[in-house]
Amino acid sequence: KTMPSEKRIREVMQQAYHQFKSSSGGANASYIPYLANVDPELYGIAICTADGKVLELGDSKYEFGIESISKVFVLALALQQRGARAVEDSIGVNATGMPFNSVMAVELDPQRAVNPLVNAGAMATNSFIRAPSSAAKWMMIDDMMARFASRRLSVIQQLYASETATNLHNRAIAWLLYSYGRFYDDVSEAVDLYTRACSYGSSTRDLAIMAGTLANSGINPVTREKVIDAALCPRILATMLTEGLYDNTGSWIYHAGVPAKSGVGGGMIAVAPGKMAIAVFAPPLDKSGNSVKAQKTLQYIIDELKLNLLLPQ
Ligand code: GLU
Repeated sequence: KTMPSEKRIREVMQQAYHQFKSSSGGANASYIPYLANVDPELYGIAICTADGKVLELGDSKYEFGIESISKVFVLALALQQRGARAVEDSIGVNATGMPFNSVMAVELDPQRAVNPLVNAGAMATNSFIRAPSSAAKWMMIDDMMARFASRRLSVIQQLYASETATNLHNRAIAWLLYSYGRFYDDVSEAVDLYTRACSYGSSTRDLAIMAGTLANSGINPVTREKVIDAALCPRILATMLTEGLYDNTGSWIYHAGVPAKSGVGGGMIAVAPGKMAIAVFAPPLDKSGNSVKAQKTLQYIIDELKLNLLLPQ
């Protein structure tokens, strides 16, 4: 395993930053009013190495909506609590090949199985976590996020309000899953918790450390705390490989060869196991809902540092 030096990582980050800083293309998510109004020029890069170094550039401390990237860490909680087999059987782990909020993805499979990283599967995953009450479940999610990030994250209340007022489509998906017996808790409460988790504010730096924990076999590389079992990391990364960029995941893997996850807030994480995690934030998205600039930046860094997992290691 060849691990690039800190100097080389810093150099490549800087090259990427200067190369893509003024590149245009894409548009902010428009279906959630709060996200439509975020400054489209914001741009941050952060890298967390498996041995706990955090390197940052640009607007890396700006807090933005974590959105779908939260799905990865709520999945981690469900896996830790219910086990890898139960998640596979009760939620599903195959690619849908469909947009993030697809209803068709629910209809397609006779078992109504959906991947935990699309909206349907993520809401089902949330419902699959066992807790005595909705408030208790929220505390479990909040603790898990804090252990991954090495600090407590807060919900952006304005974003949460904005999403709650406009999430009718997600509510419909959840009820549909419920009608097929593929939803495991109170529908309205689980959808609310899902929406709240999507509304966390996280910085590019936070995301790098959270993803860095996945790169470091479940041990937070900054705090050295064990967050989840090592055996669960490859399972989480597998869902990122199949569904991390929704219907564009195949193209992403074809070029980058590294599991990644995007969110409609403009964030994106990529994980090179045993080496490092990279997080990038830039709000304008392509039509699949993935940050245009983040994809370009990550691709550049992955190529320069030879992180593609499909290359001989
Ligand atoms: N909260 C968003 C939704 O449910 C998340 C979607 C995403 O980031 O892809 O629509």
